[in-house]
Amino acid sequence: MLRKHLREAVVPFSPYYRERITARTINNLKSFADLQRLPFTRKRDLENPRDIVLQPEPAELARRPMTIARGLVRGPRNAKAHLEHEFRPVMMTSTTGRSGAPVPFVYSGRDLDLLSVTGTRMMEICESSPEFRHVNLFPYAPHLAFWQAHYAGTGFRTFMLSTGGGKAIGLDKNLQMVDRVNPDAVISMPTFFYHLLHQASENGLRWSNIKRVVLGGEKVPLGMRRKLHEMLEAMGAEDVRIMGTYGMTEAKMAWPECPAAPGSEGTGYHLSPDLVLVEVVDPESGVPVPEGHPGEIVVTPLQARGSVVVRYRTGDLISGGIEYTMCPHCGRNCPRLMGSISRVSNRKRLQIGKVKGTLVDFDALEVLLDDVSGLASWQIELRKHRDDPLETDEIVVYCVTAGGKESAAVERAVYDRFDKDTEIHPNEVRFVTMDELSERLGVGVALKEERVVDRRPQFDDASGGSENNEEQEEA
Ligand SMILES: [Zn+2]
Repeated sequence: MLRKHLREAVVPFSPYYRERITARTINNLKSFADLQRLPFTRKRDLENPRDIVLQPEPAELARRPMTIARGLVRGPRNAKAHLEHEFRPVMMTSTTGRSGAPVPFVYSGRDLDLLSVTGTRMMEICESSPEFRHVNLFPYAPHLAFWQAHYAGTGFRTFMLSTGGGKAIGLDKNLQMVDRVNPDAVISMPTFFYHLLHQASENGLRWSNIKRVVLGGEKVPLGMRRKLHEMLEAMGAEDVRIMGTYGMTEAKMAWPECPAAPGSEGTGYHLSPDLVLVEVVDPESGVPVPEGHPGEIVVTPLQARGSVVVRYRTGDLISGGIEYTMCPHCGRNCPRLMGSISRVSNRKRLQIGKVKGTLVDFDALEVLLDDVSGLASWQIELRKHRDDPLETDEIVVYCVTAGGKESAAVERAVYDRFDKDTEIHPNEVRFVTMDELSERLGVGVALKEERVVDRRPQFDDASGGSENNEEQEEA
């Protein structure tokens, strides 16, 4: 499949790979070890996102034997429509940039079909049922997580309400809608679902019908799973199964765990070997590691059109590597990524962290409000709702104006600056006195004024799912 994919789609039609992969290399791909003949693709190689989009010349396509055959049997118009479905970009998602601009990934009609396939498999592996009612709580956004969940619903031909999450309609509306729909299965980012459940139980709601919870977009510590489980049981839900997923913009798909008994280790992310080739390599040398060894995840989609990457270095480390043995829980024979996912360590120096589920460049936050007019001094505080480490992140901006008074104009300017330069939004802008702010900044005490202070209590649990997901990132 890889040879066919490269020979018939990637090399002829991708401006980026045309120059990097030769026919000879493709012919020499005979075994797994031969993959090393293909170059890696890294995030920094995607600076010109258009170059990785397959852009066939109509004349080239017309010469394809399949096109000629289709034209003869079903007519030229049918042949043309078929090619348009295969190649024409019709949808876009993007990464939320770590430091640079977001990288767009386009989908053709065929890619959307594949998104339905991976979504349907997700439903099957998570042991959902078409008779179930599903609620998708991912934020409406041009990111993989939302669309993967949406197409899982249409592909599985089941009922799904997509609320758009907290950003779209607020917490109360989400509570009402979930309560009204009384779902069997919920798809969400873990922190948001925890937040929602907390509020629901405080309001005395009983979501006893929930049987499946599928989490994505951010890491799911074991403690979070346990807690969600306890909260759902307390609401009367029996036999709930909680599963994590791992996916990324560049693969244009996500992979689920299958249900395991509550409290047990994760079952691994079940891959689709007909749709993606996943390798695990030594992050330093790039050499593939043996089965079951930790390393960096490298992905090559095998049937994608639109934006296409080959041997993409995700920068995600998988602690238990890849396993090819039968899954002891569900009996499937697909490869599985085992253990927990973290970022490759050399990126840590970039001072990137997550706030509200969005990747944020802390170095940029340090200077974000430096030149807001009328603002004399400021501090951005990151904290957790109710100081609960499992809760949602909150952002409070403390401000002192030049005149020392509250100012609606300055408040608006602060919100505008966040909207313009970041993907996060402060919960509150609070005006304080210079004395109070000086104390907060550690003026005269700390070596450097703390413009950004992270007061989020840390939840100490390293196990669990994906850290990656720049998407959900968007999520
Ligand atoms: Zn399984």
